[in-house]
Amino acid sequence: MQQLISIIVPVYNEAPSLPDFCSEITKYTHRLPFRFECIFVDDGSSDDSPAMLRNLAQRRHGIRYIQLSRNFGKEAAVSAGLHAASGDAAIILDADLQHPPRLIRQFITKWQHGADVVVGVKHYSANEGWFKRFSSHLFYRMLGMISHTNITPHASDFRLVDRRVMNEFRNLREHNRMTRGLIDWLGFKRDYVEFVAPPRRHGERGYSYRKLINLAMNNFTAYSLVPLKLAGYVGTFILIFAGVLSSTVYIDQIMLHDPLRLKVTGTAMLALMLLFLVGVVLACLGLIALYIAHIHDEVVDRPLYVVRSHDDEATAESETIDQEPVKLEMDR
Ligand code: UDP
Ligand code: MG
Repeated sequence: MQQLISIIVPVYNEAPSLPDFCSEITKYTHRLPFRFECIFVDDGSSDDSPAMLRNLAQRRHGIRYIQLSRNFGKEAAVSAGLHAASGDAAIILDADLQHPPRLIRQFITKWQHGADVVVGVKHYSANEGWFKRFSSHLFYRMLGMISHTNITPHASDFRLVDRRVMNEFRNLREHNRMTRGLIDWLGFKRDYVEFVAPPRRHGERGYSYRKLINLAMNNFTAYSLVPLKLAGYVGTFILIFAGVLSSTVYIDQIMLHDPLRLKVTGTAMLALMLLFLVGVVLACLGLIALYIAHIHDEVVDRPLYVVRSHDDEATAESETIDQEPVKLEMDR
């Protein structure tokens, strides 16, 4: 029996791209020695995409269609696809052909060589706007600095995940999600395929800058509490600074009658007091952040650990994975 591979495609107003997309997918999969199922997830499109997809699913074997009730965003659409996939592996692919289907073969080869997650690392084509390139670079730099999860820069959503990863992915219940961030969090053995994203052939990108900024902000807060803790650090710094300054002024002005000739006015004293209080408030905010961190951990309720394979599978496993030992194996 050939292995089944699910191709997951989030679709948002992609009617002009769909015919090209389908022919490319067919072209690059029909000769491969696998069975394929293509799962299109319509993310509340307002154009002809739903009708086209429904038609396609009825006419062609191996095409499945999931329609979301409204536009939930790509992350939710991809999650829906991953939840529905029944393949031994799933490949997530954009409908606008910016993730070239000709690479599917390379992804599968790396998977067969033992990788559980194969990540497409994106290089922008020369005609991508400088702002998009710059903002994406900045985003990854900042996210990398503040988060504990090892997030590969320029790692795109174009990726293949093994059945095991999909099963674990189901256990993650948080709402504020970035699919690739969660897949990175899960760990497992990974490999990379580099690609250049060609410009969009049809239509507009479904992500306005407002949506992108929202997504970026969500990710900063979902993957890290550093922004909140930062208030605490700044507060503590201000508190110490204002404390030292006030004591100096107090000793000099009031106790020793200004031997340093600082001639501090009443307004300046007031400003100092205010500075001190701002320090107190911010430091307390940082303290609250620590509590929120605990609540956050409990509420997102991620599993404490994720098992890649159990002992009973380990022998079969070691035959297929020859380069590296399986790191996440249970040692019981
Ligand atoms: N998409 C989606 N929901 C949205 C926005 C986009 O499902 O709210 C899909 C879109 O149809 C495409 C993929 O996500 O298949 C990538 O979207 P887009 O090309 O707009 O993003 P970019 O390539 O600029 O990251
Ligand atoms: Mg795109």
